[in-house]
Amino acid sequence: MKEGITTARRYHDISCGHRVYGHESKCAHLHGHNYRIHFEIQGELDSVGRVLDFSVIKSLLCMWLEDYWDHKFLVWENDPWAETLLRLDPTGTVVVPFNPTAENMAEYLVMVVGPARLLGSGYKLVKCEIEETRKCSAGFSRGPVL
Ligand SMILES: [Zn+2]
Repeated sequence: MKEGITTARRYHDISCGHRVYGHESKCAHLHGHNYRIHFEIQGELDSVGRVLDFSVIKSLLCMWLEDYWDHKFLVWENDPWAETLLRLDPTGTVVVPFNPTAENMAEYLVMVVGPARLLGSGYKLVKCEIEETRKCSAGFSRGPVL
């Protein structure tokens, strides 16, 4: 039994719009960020000595961001503007089951996207940190799983 936990990390940059429903000030407006999204994976080492190859993190998680969130507009399904935004831009609007704060986006990636994309593998997405700006970030962690 090892005394420590091995992790592998990779980040990916996307541009994405959102509005935070119920926000007290400017985040209630339609706006966007150049998000930097950090993924952290835990798992057993393979025969080569890796949690998993960095290119696999890219193909499974970074490319999910490219396909589903990059250059899209995230809006909460309970936001009263959701229907209108979807009508204006059906392919560019992504209706999500959470108010799209960085905190909720990180939790969704760890709890929904990670398990779906890494299903059946020997490793897990355990943490996601989302920088909305270079100064502000939020994250979600499911804690040690091994
Ligand atoms: Zn914002």
